[in-house]
Amino acid sequence: MSYDFDGQAEKLLEKCMLCPRTCGVNRIAGETGYCGAGPFIEVARTMLHKWEEPCISGADPLRGSGAVFFRHCSLGCIYCQNYEISGTGDRARDRARDRAMDIARDIARLSKERASAEKPVSATRFALPEPLSVPHFAGMLLQLQNKGAYNINLVTPTHYMPLIARAVIEAKRQGLSVPVVYNTGGYERAEMIEKLEGIVDVFLTDLKYLTDGTAKKYSNAGNYVDNAFEALEMMFDITGRELEFGNDGMLKRGVIVRHLVLPGHSYAASKIIKKLYARYGDNIIYSLMNQYTPLPEANPRLSLFPELLKAVDESEYRQAVETLEELAPKYAFIQEGGTISESFIPDWNDTYLTDEDDSASGEATGDF
Ligand code: SF4
Repeated sequence: MSYDFDGQAEKLLEKCMLCPRTCGVNRIAGETGYCGAGPFIEVARTMLHKWEEPCISGADPLRGSGAVFFRHCSLGCIYCQNYEISGTGDRARDRARDRAMDIARDIARLSKERASAEKPVSATRFALPEPLSVPHFAGMLLQLQNKGAYNINLVTPTHYMPLIARAVIEAKRQGLSVPVVYNTGGYERAEMIEKLEGIVDVFLTDLKYLTDGTAKKYSNAGNYVDNAFEALEMMFDITGRELEFGNDGMLKRGVIVRHLVLPGHSYAASKIIKKLYARYGDNIIYSLMNQYTPLPEANPRLSLFPELLKAVDESEYRQAVETLEELAPKYAFIQEGGTISESFIPDWNDTYLTDEDDSASGEATGDF
């Protein structure tokens, strides 16, 4: 029987055990755990994303994957590529403080304007960058679909899972028909993933580490490996244990496993690929990434790990690619060309795709 998100979503936040950190905090009452997320969904950005795997982003330059980037993260890797929204790193903490002050200033200014306005001012104008209600978020998903998104791509959703699930259910009631992609760092609990049966169509999950020692070192997650593999098994189960594509080649159902090769860790990358192929064969999609970008200015603690202060050497990546080539899975993606570029990393400035924005690849700052 499917989980009753309509009635029970908040319950999962009252003693938060959503991810393997199992903090047990009452987020509804204002407590925050390791991830720092509160009782409401916070979105950093929505966009039509052109640079995911081709079966997710598609080829149409006017379309793309309907990506929703959430604030906060339960994993918090030392080398985080999205540090500005994940809440990791010193700059992220500074930014969060500045943002809170900006919001307070906006509320004061807008309250004053509202009080003095002779006629109602448009809701859009008064929309604040505030945490989102479930209906508001459901509307955001529908807008992405209206803008041409091939799918809804929920990036780092773990810590908001019950609220997102409710919004997806609501959006589906209102006509959301594109596949829903759960794009996660892999640090999941299988019993939480199980609740997403019938809600999520595609899992796009990382498998970051071969050993818990490395997971502890770089992500302070000494229980990563077993949890990630158990969660993957559940993802595989609830999406039907096989891949399903549309006539246009876009993935409609199934699992993609990503591995970002870290500098000096090509051996681990090869082992992970072999382990995955031995279990899942041609029934999942493999995605081997080389776009690691060291960002020490984002998190000075990265300097404690000199091995991570450089890009991935071409020969290291090649070694992992060769493993993939030897196994020759039916579906796999690798990245070509130079890798070290911040252009892979979107600019996080609370930009939401809006109805007023006619450019399918553009975004409007501020209001949704
Ligand atoms: S989602 Fe956040 S609060 Fe909940 S268990 Fe994970 S880290 Fe803790």
